[in-house]
Amino acid sequence: MAAIGYEEIVGAPKVLLHDHLDGGLRPATIIELAEGVGHPLPSTDPAELGRWFVDAANSGSLERYLETFAHTVAVMQTPEGLRRVARECALDLAADGVVYAEVRFAPEQHLERGLTLDEVVDAVQAGFAEGVALAAQAGQTIRVGTLLTAMRHAARSQEIAELAVRYRDHGVVGFDIAGAEAGFPPTRHLDAFEYLQRENFHFTIHAGEGFGLPSIWQAIQWCGADRLGHGVRIVDDITPGDRPVLGRLAAYVRDKRIPLELCPSSNVQTGAATSIAEHPIGLLRDLRFRVTVNTDNRLMSGTSMSREMALLVEAFDYGWAELQWFTINAMKSAFIPFDERLAIINDVIKPGYAKLLP
Ligand SMILES: [Zn+2]
Repeated sequence: MAAIGYEEIVGAPKVLLHDHLDGGLRPATIIELAEGVGHPLPSTDPAELGRWFVDAANSGSLERYLETFAHTVAVMQTPEGLRRVARECALDLAADGVVYAEVRFAPEQHLERGLTLDEVVDAVQAGFAEGVALAAQAGQTIRVGTLLTAMRHAARSQEIAELAVRYRDHGVVGFDIAGAEAGFPPTRHLDAFEYLQRENFHFTIHAGEGFGLPSIWQAIQWCGADRLGHGVRIVDDITPGDRPVLGRLAAYVRDKRIPLELCPSSNVQTGAATSIAEHPIGLLRDLRFRVTVNTDNRLMSGTSMSREMALLVEAFDYGWAELQWFTINAMKSAFIPFDERLAIINDVIKPGYAKLLP
């Protein structure tokens, strides 16, 4: 079979569950917004600034990596800035052929210029709605659900969990915690997770990216996470070989069909994987874990959903059947109601791939 082309992948329906709003800005937008708020940048040329973000994220230096988010978050402190970034996020994902996306951000990081948590969420929701409507005018159908993130080193998780539940009928579909794993186990936020469970709400936890199995174990068995943000280190509980042997935690994750939000390029940048070709996604797919493909931070990784899939096609020789499998896995794992997930699978994803499958 001829290798699948990038343009064809753009045309195929895709589903994205792990994408950070503050990690996906357009360089030109950062420059314009930074000028408006008087924030200095490493470059005011869009192409150069775009390269700066990727280089800084590639540098292996945590300080430089964190500096990238200091710049994006700095221009997302006003209703106008937040609204524009959210609008363009929806538009960019739609143009890339994403039909359903869950985009996450941490409201507590956008309070520097006096906004309240509710005002931050309102501005982002307005931006997503505008982007979805503009995309529809251009003939592209996308649905965007919001995940509200709490920072694992901070102490506002209960407040953010309550905020997420307050907005559950206004576009917020789930909750997440993110930030440095080492030294900040998810059990620090147990109150928030127990609250969310009592509210019958959904959440994912960044776990098993930089840090290993204890973090994944806590996220699932103590906190009750619906999905794992990354979860790639679950391979540490698998003994490789002709017939790989799963440890008890890996077996549990696979048996319970707990979705793994894998982000290949991002994992290579942070050192969680040495290369795309050696990324555990190949093994985890072969073993039929509930694998999904994600972007994490499109700006810092210079990537898109289509590019992540193209990299996997190149590295693992995947065809349309595998790309459809990843896409349906992601849609099954979304936080919107079951009937709505099923409708997207049957009305959009399957017909889209039916035209492409050999
Ligand atoms: Zn992430």
